Amino acid sequence: MTRCDVAVIGAGPYGLSAAAHLRTIKGLDVQTFGEPMSFWERNMPVGMLLRSGWAASHIADPDQSLTLDAYRAASGKHFSSPVPLDRFTDYGLWYQGRAVPGLDQRKIMRVESYRKDFRLILEKGSSIFARRVVVAAGIGSFAWRPPEFANLPSYLASHTSEHREFQRFAGKRVLVVGSGQSALESAALLHESGAEVEIVARARQIRWLGGVVSRTIQHGFGPTISKLLYAPTDVGPAGISQIVARPDLVRQLPRSIQDRLRKRSVRPGGARWLVARVRNVGKSLGRFVVCAAPVGERIKVRLDDGSERIIDHVLLGTGYRVDVSKYDFLAPTLAASISRHQGYPRLTDGFETSFPGLHILGAPAVWSFGPLMQFVVGTHYSSRALMQFVARKAASNRARVGEPLVAGLELSRPHD
Ligand SMILES: Cc1cc2nc3c(=O)[nH]c(=O)nc-3n(C[C@H](O)[C@H](O)[C@H](O)COP(=O)(O)OP(=O)(O)OC[C@H]3O[C@@H](n4cnc5c(N)ncnc54)[C@H](O)[C@@H]3O)c2cc1C
Repeated sequence: MTRCDVAVIGAGPYGLSAAAHLRTIKGLDVQTFGEPMSFWERNMPVGMLLRSGWAASHIADPDQSLTLDAYRAASGKHFSSPVPLDRFTDYGLWYQGRAVPGLDQRKIMRVESYRKDFRLILEKGSSIFARRVVVAAGIGSFAWRPPEFANLPSYLASHTSEHREFQRFAGKRVLVVGSGQSALESAALLHESGAEVEIVARARQIRWLGGVVSRTIQHGFGPTISKLLYAPTDVGPAGISQIVARPDLVRQLPRSIQDRLRKRSVRPGGARWLVARVRNVGKSLGRFVVCAAPVGERIKVRLDDGSERIIDHVLLGTGYRVDVSKYDFLAPTLAASISRHQGYPRLTDGFETSFPGLHILGAPAVWSFGPLMQFVVGTHYSSRALMQFVARKAASNRARVGEPLVAGLELSRPHD
C-alpha cells in the first residue's frame, strides 16, 4: 500500500511552490501530482503577455533563488516585462525540475476520506493514501459560461480558456463577450488573425490599467510616494495595493471591507499594451446579449438594445467563478463537508478547509485571504503559511505519540 504524509494535487505555480516548501520539512514525505504548468501551456493563447509585472511573477521558493531573473540567466533567453507566456511556462518547468524533481504527472481521479486519512485514486486505477491533501488545481474547472450560451455547441460558443490560437477564425465574424484582460487580449489576437471582431461588454467604457492617476503617482510623484502607495505585489489600486499585499491584515478586517477590497482589486480591465491593438476592433459597450440561437452553421445574437447580428462564433471572455464543488476529483461527500461561502471554501490559517487535513490553495482561497491568491505572487504567502502550519501539526502529532522531536521538524533551510 502506497502512503505519504502530504499529497499535493496540481503542478501549476501554487502546487509547485507548496511542494517546494513542504519538502524542506525534514522527515515529511510529500508527493506531488499533475502535469507541470499544463493550464498555462494548454489554456492560454499563444502570443499572450503576462499582465503581472516582473517582480510579481516569481514563483515563491524557500531560498528565493528560483526567480525569473535566475531562470533568465540560466536559460540565456532575452526577455523582460511584460513577460511572454512561453517564457513564463518554460520558467515554471525549469522551477519544477529544480524544486520538485520527483513529480508524478498522473492525474488524480478521486479524493475521498478514508478513516483518518485520504485515499487518492490515480488515473489507471492505482491508489495512494495520504495524511493530508493540498489541492492546488487552479481555475480550469470554474470557466464561467453565462446561461444565454449554455445550450450552444462549443463550435458556436466557446470560452477563452478553450483556445490556444485563433487562426481558424480568419475571415469569420466573432463576437467577444467581456472587457477583462482575457476578453481584450483574445479580441486583439483574433483581429490580428484576420477575424472580424466585435466586443460586447456591460461596462460603459473599457477600463485600461495604468491610467492617468496611477501613471501620475508612479512616475510623476517619484519612487518614494509610488512605493508607499503600490506594493511590489502589483495587485490593486493605489493604497489598496498595500493592504491586499498583507493577507494577515486582510483577514483581520470586517467581512464587508474584505469584500470591497476584493472587488476594487480585481475589476475587469485591460493592460495598456492592448489599447492600440483593439483600436480598430468594433465595440458595443454598455450592452449585453439577451439571446443567442443557432441559425444553420452560424449564430444569431440579440443585444439588449434590440439590435441583432448573425455571426460565426461567440467567444466568452466571461472569466471564472470559483465553486470548489466543481473539482470533479473531490468525492461528493467530501466536497459537501467543506464549509463554503458562494463556492469559496472558508479556510483557516494554514489554508485548511473545515475538513481537517484538506487544504486548498490558489484562487479558491481569495475569499479567506484576499485577491493576492488569484495571482502567482500569492505563492509567497500561501506556501510559507502552509509549510508553517504543517510543520506545527506534525510536531504536535509526534509529541503526542511520544516520538522524540529530534531533528524531526527542523526546517532544513532557514526562513525568516
Ligand atoms: C488568460 C489568463 C491570464 C493570466 N495572467 C496572469 C498573470 O499575468 N499573472 C498572474 O499572476 N496570474 C495570471 N493569471 C492567473 C493564473 O491562472 C494564476 O495566477 C495561476 O495559474 C495560479 O496557479 P495555480 O497553481 O493555482 O493554477 P494552475 O496554473 O491552473 O495549475 C493547476 C494545475 O493543477 C493541475 N490539476 C488540476 N486537476 C488535477 C488533477 N485532478 N490531478 C492532477 N493535477 C491536476 C493542472 O493540470 C494544473 O497544472 C492568468 C489567468 C488567465 C486565465
